[in-house]
Amino acid sequence: MVSERTRLRMIARLREQGIRDEVVLAAMAAVPRHLFVEDALASRAYEDTALPIGFGQTISQPFSVARSCELLRAGKSIDLALEIGGGCGYQAAVLARLAREVYTIERIGALAAKARQTLSSIGVSNVKVRNADGQEAASNVVQFDAIVVAAGGGKIPPNLLGLMADGGRMVIPLGSPERQRLTLVTRTGDSFQQTAFDEVVFVPLKTGQE
Ligand code: SAH
Repeated sequence: MVSERTRLRMIARLREQGIRDEVVLAAMAAVPRHLFVEDALASRAYEDTALPIGFGQTISQPFSVARSCELLRAGKSIDLALEIGGGCGYQAAVLARLAREVYTIERIGALAAKARQTLSSIGVSNVKVRNADGQEAASNVVQFDAIVVAAGGGKIPPNLLGLMADGGRMVIPLGSPERQRLTLVTRTGDSFQQTAFDEVVFVPLKTGQE
């Protein structure tokens, strides 16, 4: 069992780390993070660290999740959100409380299946999980107000710029394989502006599907 105190301690720490958006803090307080990791790691689920979720991947650190959600929201609720790198589905569950509808793309099929199962077991019904390479995702009909990339890279995958709605926001960790900066990209018409924020460490963004 994970106590309520353990969960609230994570929220207190996020406040100390500078997270100010109360809607994000409430969403993070409401999502049972321990259900997204293996049972043996449940007692560590609320520490400010990335933990293994199998297949060499990790559940993102709470701070990175909170900060990217705060940057995406900019104080407003989100209509359509897209996540690249769904992993165990944790950030998608947080986003589900901040957006009307969430699409998450995960390249490893077994993780996508597990995420689907965990999300449905906790009653999250506005997240669609797809098993695909997010760097290949494209659409002529849908554009997203908010896109979050949960894996690090050296550059922004060009297809994602095309998936941003006018006035949309994207948060992506950009930098070297060892460390990146959470970078906010905003779109106004055909112009894109980039601002770098906190230093973070994410698993690498890859190509192809497994
Ligand atoms: N969002 C997750 C973080 C998962 S780690 C959470 O809430 O904890 C990042 C995930 O990105 C990994 O599961 C990895 O398989 C996936 N990934 C890496 N490159 C990808 C790509 N091109 N398309 C889709 N998923 C990708």
